[in-house]
Amino acid sequence: MGLMRSALLWGSRNATLRNTLPKFKFVRRAVTRFMPGETIEDALNAAEELRRHTMPTIITHLGENLTHQHEAEAVAQHYLDVLDRIKQRGLDCYVSVKPTQLGLDFSERLCHELSLNIAEQARATGTMMWIDMENSPYVDRTITLFKRLRQQLENVGLCLQSYLVRTEKDLDDLLPLNPSIRLVKGAYAEPAGVVFPTKRDTDEQFYKLSLKLIKAAAKRKAEVGVGTHDLPLIQRIRSAIRQEGIPDSTYEVQMLYGIKREEQLRLRKEGLRVRVLISYGTYWFPWYMRRLAERPANVWFVVKNMFGG
Ligand SMILES: Cc1cc2nc3c(=O)[nH]c(=O)nc-3n(C[C@H](O)[C@H](O)[C@H](O)COP(=O)(O)OP(=O)(O)OC[C@H]3O[C@@H](n4cnc5c(N)ncnc54)[C@H](O)[C@@H]3O)c2cc1C
Repeated sequence: MGLMRSALLWGSRNATLRNTLPKFKFVRRAVTRFMPGETIEDALNAAEELRRHTMPTIITHLGENLTHQHEAEAVAQHYLDVLDRIKQRGLDCYVSVKPTQLGLDFSERLCHELSLNIAEQARATGTMMWIDMENSPYVDRTITLFKRLRQQLENVGLCLQSYLVRTEKDLDDLLPLNPSIRLVKGAYAEPAGVVFPTKRDTDEQFYKLSLKLIKAAAKRKAEVGVGTHDLPLIQRIRSAIRQEGIPDSTYEVQMLYGIKREEQLRLRKEGLRVRVLISYGTYWFPWYMRRLAERPANVWFVVKNMFGG
């Protein structure tokens, strides 16, 4: 892992930086590149704007590693309200939740109960609830949570990360459940041995697992999210899938708000299903540092904002 990337991922977990940096105006200005605003209204307005370009969305309320039951319950209640608002506005918009924002750190029971409430409300309002994947110590518990929910409901999806060596086995274990899966490369600092040694290996694994997922979904209806901004990789997947005679409509390319906007529109115009994930909330610092780590050149954008650019 590059030095800059390691430093940024270290920064994402540093409490002093988390409490200090968001107070600077130039940092707040720079964040707006990836986040339309801190409130749910900002996120829903951005979703409406994307709808004008026929692009559906996913929204996620930023936050992680909550330590108190009342905080986790407040997050769940927030999502219930959000689902009502999505319905009122007639948006094609999923929600995506982080298990540690729903109490996974201190109670698997509570986390399951709150996730189930959100997923049931999502079903009642005609949409889906996705479960984000956090860093590797949470993978087993997150998969257990997903399996329990999947036995109860169909409108639940899980994120898997191709940088983890274990993911292929996890996917094979999950496939008999006909799961909806979003595949991503993975955004966290992980110890050696847990993840593939090179980015090239991670990319190859992404290619292999996405084909496996899409072929499985072509046989039985399930949602597949190809969650990447890697355009050559998307092109490779697209060609391989077409060669198999499987239509592009079997999967969805999912990208983050503000990243490769032009390409999102281009892929959409070419007929691919493209969905954009919009994040919002006041607890954006760790998430933003992970976005900087994905492309350390983004740091120059922050610096430019420091000088009013
Ligand atoms: C819809 C969605 C949901 C996600 N959910 C999770 C999750 O639950 N758990 C998790 O661990 N990770 C999640 N991620 C993040 C993911 O793991 C990667 O860190 C992120 O997508 C960057 O990797 P990439 O696949 O785009 O490939 P890369 O090879 O890193 O990048 C491909 C191209 O995109 C550009 N790019 C990538 N990131 C940025 C950026 N931040 N700013 C500007 N350009 C960029 C690169 O410069 C390069 O040109 C999610 C990503 C998406 C799109």
